[in-house]
Amino acid sequence: MSESINGEAQRPAAGRAALSPRRPAVVVDVGGVGIGGDRPVVVQSMTNTDTADVETTVVQVTQLAEAGSELVRLTVNTPAAARAVPEIADRLRDSGVTVPLIGDFHFNGHILLPGNPGCAEALDKYRINPGNVGGRTWDSNFARIVECAVEHDKPVRIGVNWGSLDQALQTTMMDENAALERPRDAHDVMIDALIESAMRSAEVAEEIGLSHDRILLSAKVSGVQDLLTVYRRLAPLSDYPLHLGLTEAGMGRKGVVSSTAGLAILLAEGIGDTIRVSLTPTPGGDRCEEVRVARQILQSLGLRMFEPQVTACPGCGRTTSTFFQEMAQEIEEYLRTRMPRWSGLYPGIETLGVAVMGCVVNGPGESRHADIGISLPGSFEEPSAPVYVDGEHHTTLRGDDIVAQFIEILEAYVVRRFGAETEAST
Ligand code: SF4
Repeated sequence: MSESINGEAQRPAAGRAALSPRRPAVVVDVGGVGIGGDRPVVVQSMTNTDTADVETTVVQVTQLAEAGSELVRLTVNTPAAARAVPEIADRLRDSGVTVPLIGDFHFNGHILLPGNPGCAEALDKYRINPGNVGGRTWDSNFARIVECAVEHDKPVRIGVNWGSLDQALQTTMMDENAALERPRDAHDVMIDALIESAMRSAEVAEEIGLSHDRILLSAKVSGVQDLLTVYRRLAPLSDYPLHLGLTEAGMGRKGVVSSTAGLAILLAEGIGDTIRVSLTPTPGGDRCEEVRVARQILQSLGLRMFEPQVTACPGCGRTTSTFFQEMAQEIEEYLRTRMPRWSGLYPGIETLGVAVMGCVVNGPGESRHADIGISLPGSFEEPSAPVYVDGEHHTTLRGDDIVAQFIEILEAYVVRRFGAETEAST
């Protein structure tokens, strides 16, 4: 897992042509995965199992890693959870799952980490929320966690959150604001308090002895516009890598669209070194969906390439049958099932673009832009389907088995194009 992203270069310059240059950041190594600098933006996720339940946690971490999560975070909230972490790590490694593990600590990290050195060692990064470290004992609690990170040579994410902002800091900043001749909007002060909490905590961590290149920052809020404001203010203040995410994004369509809206704008501005999409799954739903959405955000922006993409038209009154919708779905499914094998055999296969179009209006044009494309017949068109390969008309398919014929052409294309790259690189 780590090798695939360490070895992966950013998309060529053209891939960022319409995007702002990446914000400069030091590279933080998290269990072999580099975050920051010109490293690819890393996808991460979080389990929702009881970490003390080793079996179910191992299963879910494995599923998340197989879905493409390059880092996985676990809740470490109780002594039982902390004791389970080394066994979880061992069982994952024994089964070949090497994804780095992050421990999420709130309220008692200063007790759990020093009290469970096996846990402290097994984790690849600690997440600390400065708002949940302690009140009057904040300094000593925070110091104990950071000292643990220094002792075990682990990086730390200082992850502040709108919902658990450091109350003492917030009160101080609000009081200072109220004393001004022209007080600022309280909401605006709260945004600054979030940023101040992250920056001050990082400064204290460095004073305690944590290296500059062992710190990442995040400042999560639940509204898209607030997210943009927070990260645009936070980004120029340091060169710590930034973890992006809309906290409590919500369920289904709302969660996906809100996360995409916020993350895509920031990523397009060059802000963000690792992302998490915090979707609430439906009861019994698939936790891996957040990984798929995060990957698709990066791939849609052209920042990472993970898997072949199918371009399909939405359909309209010119094509009343569902045949082309079914074909687009079948091709997408086919590509997904072939990828585990293809990715081992054909370097670059993830850049493949396939078009499945509903009629001749945009069909041939879009098919020419794709590596390989098919334009199906619309309602009153001749029952034939021209196929384009590398922008040229290749053949025209007819009959009841157009899908099978197209897949045959697709398979031959993959071998010819990406198999040749394999031979050239060996
Ligand atoms: S390509 Fe044809 S079927 Fe598809 S949306 Fe355009 S006009 Fe409609």
